This record gives sequence, C-alpha cells and structure tokens, in this order.
Amino acid sequence: MYLHLPFCRDRCTYCSFATTRDDSLQPATVARLAAQVQSWGNALEHPRVDTLYLGGGTPSLLSLEELNALTSAIQGAFDLSPLLEATLEANPGTVDFSWLQGARRLGWDRISMGVQTLDDELLGRLGRIHNGTVALESLELARQAGFHRRSGDLMVGIPGQDLSRVLEDTRRLVATGLEHMSIYLLDLDKNCPLKADVGAGRLTLPSEDSVATIFEALQVELPRLGLLPYEISNYANPGAESKHNSRYWERRPYLGIGPSAASHLGDLRWTEEGNIPAWADGRAGVEITELDAAESLSEIPMLGLRLHRGVDWDRLRAEAELKKLLPLVDSWESQLAPYEQGGLVIREGGNVRLSQRGMLLSNGILSTFV
Ligand code: SF4
Repeated sequence: MYLHLPFCRDRCTYCSFATTRDDSLQPATVARLAAQVQSWGNALEHPRVDTLYLGGGTPSLLSLEELNALTSAIQGAFDLSPLLEATLEANPGTVDFSWLQGARRLGWDRISMGVQTLDDELLGRLGRIHNGTVALESLELARQAGFHRRSGDLMVGIPGQDLSRVLEDTRRLVATGLEHMSIYLLDLDKNCPLKADVGAGRLTLPSEDSVATIFEALQVELPRLGLLPYEISNYANPGAESKHNSRYWERRPYLGIGPSAASHLGDLRWTEEGNIPAWADGRAGVEITELDAAESLSEIPMLGLRLHRGVDWDRLRAEAELKKLLPLVDSWESQLAPYEQGGLVIREGGNVRLSQRGMLLSNGILSTFV
C-alpha cells in the first residue's frame, strides 16, 4: 500500500510531482487520507498488506500526531500481520531526533532520504532546502533513532555535476552505513524552472556521454562498496532490496491513496487526480484503465526486465500460449534479436535479462513492449 503526502517546504526547481507548499491544506488532506484508508479497507474486506510506503512530497513534514492518525487508520482497516517493511520518505532538514524516534515507535522501520547530492552548489541549483552537511546529519539522526534500514537517493545529470563529484558523494553516503541507494537521472520532461534555465542557456545539462559514463562508473563503484544492483536504478546490500518497490516490478497488486497515487488490481489500473485541493475535499476524479490480454502480458517483460534477475521467458511463453498470444511473444523475440547479438540482452536457458550495458540503454529495449 502506498500513501501520498503532497506537501513540501519549498518547491525544487526540477519538480513535476503533485506537491504544494500550501500547508493550509495539510489537515484536510491528512483527514481525507485516513478516511480513504478506512473506506478502502472496508471495501476490500480488510485485506492483508505486507509492505507500506508513505511517499510524497515530504512525509517528514507530518506532525507525529498526524503520522499516528494515519498509522492507526491503516492498522484498523488492513491486516498488517504479514507486514515485512514500512518505509517513510523523508527530506534532509525536515527531521529531528524526537520525530524520527516517534515514527520508529509507530512501526515505520525503513527510511528513504532524498539526498540527491552532497554538493551545496548543485543542491542550490536544484532548489533543495538542505545542504550536504544536513543530509549526512539527517541520515545519522535516523540511524540513532533506530532506523537500521536506510536508503538514499542520488541524482545524476545535474548541471555542473561531474563524475568525480558523484563518486565522492557515493563513497561518503555508503560510509554512513546506507544499505540501499536509488540512482535517478534528472528528468526535465515537464515544465519547471530548471528546464526554463536550461532552455534560456543559463545552465547546461551534462552531455549524454558524460551521464552514461557516470552510470557506468556507478555500476562498478557501488558493487565494490558492497551495494549490488537488483534493478536498473537500485542497489542494495544483499537482502536489503526494497520489498515494496520490488512488488511493482513483479506486478503484484498494490493500492495507492492520495493525489496522483496509482493502483493496480488484477487488470485494472487507476490513478487519482493530482489536484490537491480537489483531492482534499473529495472532488477529485480517478482515471481508470482496464488492460486487455496483450497489454497485461506486455507488462511482464516491460517491468520484469528492469530487475537484474530478468524474466522467466519459458513461463511467459506458457502464459502467452494460454491466452493465444504466442505470435506477440514471437514478434518481441525478433525485435530483441539485434539487442541479443549486440550483448545488451542475455538469454540463459529459459531466462532473459538485460546486461549491464543493456541497463544503460533500457529505454530503447523496453519500448519493444509498448
Ligand atoms: S522534495 Fe521532492 S516532491 Fe518536494 S518539491 Fe522537491 S522534488 Fe518535489
């Protein structure tokens, strides 16, 4: 289950998420989140939930009373007896020891910290509210408060960022004992102030080649530091992979609640409207899609090939045969053949996966299944 808390202290220059600085909406949003949790729990007859993720936005802006109210609503409406992992997203500079300790006592046992970089100049360019020292302090406070499962986000492709800076940040972050890191490429798809700066020539993005060099270097450096790749963007100590995020790639059902939250149940996919005031007072709509058999089958390689272990291709073919979709799989195989010859896709027995280089070029390969 995923809950979206759409509030941030300030808006980053690259952000395209459903978030706002207007915290006057926070009480109504939290009350509606709790009410929606209750009503989904009733509608689905109190199903078992084995991973929780409170993301945003900045969930660490919740007061402990608000976090307690949300946690109690989840505990009351869902069966948490199989719970394996409860992750809180937090941003450096918004947490203190007593809040972290309180969150830990409420049962949240994993924290994902939006570090992005430890370089103060680059952080300023991104409009982040923290500096590198605060990021390291926040991670240490989380450890002291009992969060032994800690993840950090690192961003690649920031104007002015170079390889040596990324490697230095990586080493310093891993030295704090992080068990998990997510590596993101700065995405300027949507309109945002940073995109306007780049468009006007005030800032220059690193070249595609230098970004690829950074990703390649991280593919070597992170395993050397003990964090092994398990998904295109994610590295973890053995056994410390994010169970929650793995469920997305494994196509397990999930329920998302909050503005812009997405859900997956059977062949239904739905996304709640991202308009925060409308969501808070119950006027927001929902966009629902029902997948047909071919779309549903396509999700298996599209999501599964993101994982390092790849896809059980024999099983995929067997499922396709049942659904009378073997010609579709045959056509994928012919489209994948050049990638296989080029060493980007690896077929071993009945398993298909991307090579390290294939991971770097995954967008093109995965478009085979769109
Ligand atoms: S902290 Fe994250 S969600 Fe909030 S404004 Fe920055 S990028 Fe957006």
